[in-house]
Amino acid sequence: MSLQILTIPCRTDNYAYLAHDSATGATAVIDVPEAAPILDALARHGWQLSDVLITHHHGDHVEGLEEVLAQAPARVIGAAADAHRLPPLDIAVSEGDEVTIGSETGRVIDVSGHTVGHIAFHFPDSGAVFTADSLMALGCGRVFEGTPAQMHASLAKLAALPPETLIYSGHEYTKTNAAFARTVDPDNPRLAARTDEITRTRAAGQPTVPASLAEELETNPFLRAHDPAIRAHLGMTGATDIEVFAEIRSRKDRF
Ligand code: ZN
Ligand code: FE
Repeated sequence: MSLQILTIPCRTDNYAYLAHDSATGATAVIDVPEAAPILDALARHGWQLSDVLITHHHGDHVEGLEEVLAQAPARVIGAAADAHRLPPLDIAVSEGDEVTIGSETGRVIDVSGHTVGHIAFHFPDSGAVFTADSLMALGCGRVFEGTPAQMHASLAKLAALPPETLIYSGHEYTKTNAAFARTVDPDNPRLAARTDEITRTRAAGQPTVPASLAEELETNPFLRAHDPAIRAHLGMTGATDIEVFAEIRSRKDRF
């Protein structure tokens, strides 16, 4: 069995996800940007919330929690490292810990960089990883609290997952990410094709998430600091991967 996963647009450009285990009826929400769309989706499907998985402390990922719990009590799981600045946790987890949604078992990956204490949740049997503001479709989160080296190491852990893994990230930033990616990797035909596809998907009002890791490995510049064409384009052929990654990240910050 694998989790049935629903993408729930929230606020202006956030995504929450409902992950439902039909074997047990357990249902988790991953991040809680706001309550109403999540409660609506639960009601529409007749699902009862069992778990809340929080990726990091930013308001646009937790602000709906209190209201959701008032209507749909559930156990709350988040990073032990961030327990002091997250809403009250029932289970505090760290890298390598197991998390269950009914009969499905996931694993916590520390993906610090955007914040220190940001975690991702990988469910191998469902081929899904919830990455929020670490790895995003054609992008990665801005490095607010960690260092570029830390973000690079976090993305490397995600890049090592099976290539068919679907990446469920926290925001709809893909169109801007594609435009930026083209500036550092202009001759990548797969990136050009994906950019066209994204334009069509967004024009139809559809989410561009999830995206497969295989697709990200071929087109996301933040996973491609080793790529000779990108290095040549940046004039950084002799630099380390971390230096190239840091340069791409700082160009994106100014984009
Ligand atoms: Zn954030
Ligand atoms: Fe965010």
